Amino acid sequence: MQVLVVEDDKRIADALTEALQRFGHEVDWVASGSEALEAAGNTEFMLLDLGLPDLDGQEVCRRVREQSAVPIIAVTARAEELDRVLMLQAGADDYLIKPYSMRELLARIDAVARRVQSPAAVPTESSETSTEERCVFGPLSLDLRTRQVEVDGELVKLTRREFDLLAALLSDAGAVRRREDLINEVWDPNWHGSTRTLDVHVGSLRSKLGGRDWIQSVRGVGFRLVLPE
Ligand code: CA
Repeated sequence: MQVLVVEDDKRIADALTEALQRFGHEVDWVASGSEALEAAGNTEFMLLDLGLPDLDGQEVCRRVREQSAVPIIAVTARAEELDRVLMLQAGADDYLIKPYSMRELLARIDAVARRVQSPAAVPTESSETSTEERCVFGPLSLDLRTRQVEVDGELVKLTRREFDLLAALLSDAGAVRRREDLINEVWDPNWHGSTRTLDVHVGSLRSKLGGRDWIQSVRGVGFRLVLPE
């Protein structure tokens, strides 16, 4: 895989490059956020250090997401919960806290790459099945094939995770989906992050859909997608 390492510390970048190459990856290295934005279109995977000299890592992440779905693992030395949640909201697929082991990094890269390339996430293109890829619930319409969401015919821009969460809720609209099941489906069964991440994504989905009534919380159990009054 072609990996873009965004890291302003040359020693760390050199060590990463060497290790990734040893495991068969091709590595490009840039040391700033602006270079990362330029190179984002030409890479298959991005390892993004958040402490960069020019741009805030979150900003880099958001701007890459505007133009590309390239998988991003954010790497941070700032361990506060807020940063991680904001990074996931900004469109990062996963994050690592420094210091991390090379083994952990490689495992995360594999897990993210698998998830992104999984057949479930990329339904096959076929005109026969295309109607089944479109889920409609009242004014809400979600197309699994194009990953587009509309409310009342207006396109709603969602991050990949927000889309997956909405698709999971929509797969059994009206029923309560358990928190654990949502985390397993949308994140990954080995997700070690805080379950607060789920609440944060529910919050951002509600605001993007235009109201908190769309997603009801069922305390201690999970969430239910309902038609707003
Ligand atoms: Ca740095």
